Amino acid sequence: MRHFDVVIIGAGAAGMMCAAIAGQRGRSVLVLDHAEAPGKKIRISGGGRCNFTNVHTAPNRFLSQNPRFAISALKRYGPRDFLALVERYGIAWHEKTLGQLFCDGSAQQVIDMLVAEMRVAGAELLLNTSVHKIERADDGFALETDNGRVSCTSLVVASGGKSIPKMGATGFAYKVAEQFGVPITETRPALVPLTFETGLLETIKPLSGVSLDARIRHGKMHFDEAMLFTHRGLSGPAILQISSYWREGDAIGINMMPETDIAQWFAEQRAANGRTSVLNALATALPRRLAQKIVEETATTGNLADLSKKQIARLAVALQDWQVKPVGSEGYRTAEVTLGGIDTDALSAKDMSVKTVPGLYFIGEAVDVTGWLGGYNFQWAWASGWCAGQSA
Ligand code: FAD
Repeated sequence: MRHFDVVIIGAGAAGMMCAAIAGQRGRSVLVLDHAEAPGKKIRISGGGRCNFTNVHTAPNRFLSQNPRFAISALKRYGPRDFLALVERYGIAWHEKTLGQLFCDGSAQQVIDMLVAEMRVAGAELLLNTSVHKIERADDGFALETDNGRVSCTSLVVASGGKSIPKMGATGFAYKVAEQFGVPITETRPALVPLTFETGLLETIKPLSGVSLDARIRHGKMHFDEAMLFTHRGLSGPAILQISSYWREGDAIGINMMPETDIAQWFAEQRAANGRTSVLNALATALPRRLAQKIVEETATTGNLADLSKKQIARLAVALQDWQVKPVGSEGYRTAEVTLGGIDTDALSAKDMSVKTVPGLYFIGEAVDVTGWLGGYNFQWAWASGWCAGQSA
């Protein structure tokens, strides 16, 4: 049986970062993954360009039962650190919007960089390998895998969450947690499109494919980003963001003209050209199909000059405070991440080790730390992987 200082399960973002750092510290490292290639989620991330970090990274951009847990790791390894690595490899990048950094070329460059970092650090990568059994051994752990038995002093679980089973997500980390008595918080799909019941779907059917910038609200949270009507409900960045906060039975509030004082806007439009139809006026501010739907739903006919105060008030509600109750989400099939996971109370915030099981670590998406859309989830993967790599 071969022995390693560190065995890492999962060659994703967090696992590869951890392997490179542990290897640089002179540890013998083995990374196991059941997939045929490393970093499959990195490859499809950011529309193929990998939104690898966000310059606005701060603890309030993450959801967790313990919002303070991520502070230490994000401080020790921040966006600038990852950017320095990207630049060392000569990977061209750009800031798109809202502090989101993307590769100019392809997400594959980030994977190649991490694989190169692992190689330089002497970490071994074993693909197409599943782990069947983990046992506590005298000085660490013994693992039964497709490729025989291995033992290690430190075991790092970096197998991600449950999102997108088609990409190899298994929820394996939670099983390992259960085996070692590590608590798990409730898990649910996050950064995911929301779906409507059939009646409402019928109503919005003509809007499928329409997108606009909107403010989406749930409780005290709101996001100003693009929103998209789909044939199942709503999607787009603003909806994905709010989905992490939304719960079954809750309504979300949609403001389609968030920067506008509606009464003043209609007054100005009317003064400029009172003979314009309400539909045509609205179509200057919104996609025409949506404007059409709004005049239909509010039973508004005629020209701007004919609008009564009551009608304007009704339009204002439809435009700026559409309260809608999604029935569900598209689930793990399309969710970008899993909310919840390994309870952070069980982990050291400094190095991600399990307080009650010496040598066992959980990093990345498996942990109950979930970022907003926009590069925050990779930043968490890098930071938690880096911290575990410094300690394992
Ligand atoms: P993963 O990257 O999921 O890696 C886990 C690894 O473990 C995988 O290689 C998997 O094959 C392996 N594994 C799983 N189970 C087992 C098992 N039982 N045995 C062996 N190996 C196993 N985040 C951003 O910050 N920016 C983006 O642009 C972005 N875009 C995204 C786009 C999509 C479509 C999706 C789905 C997600 C996106 N994310 C993005 C989220 C980001 O991909 C994850 O937060 C991140 O990959 C988590 O890293 P991880 O290493 O914890 O897990």
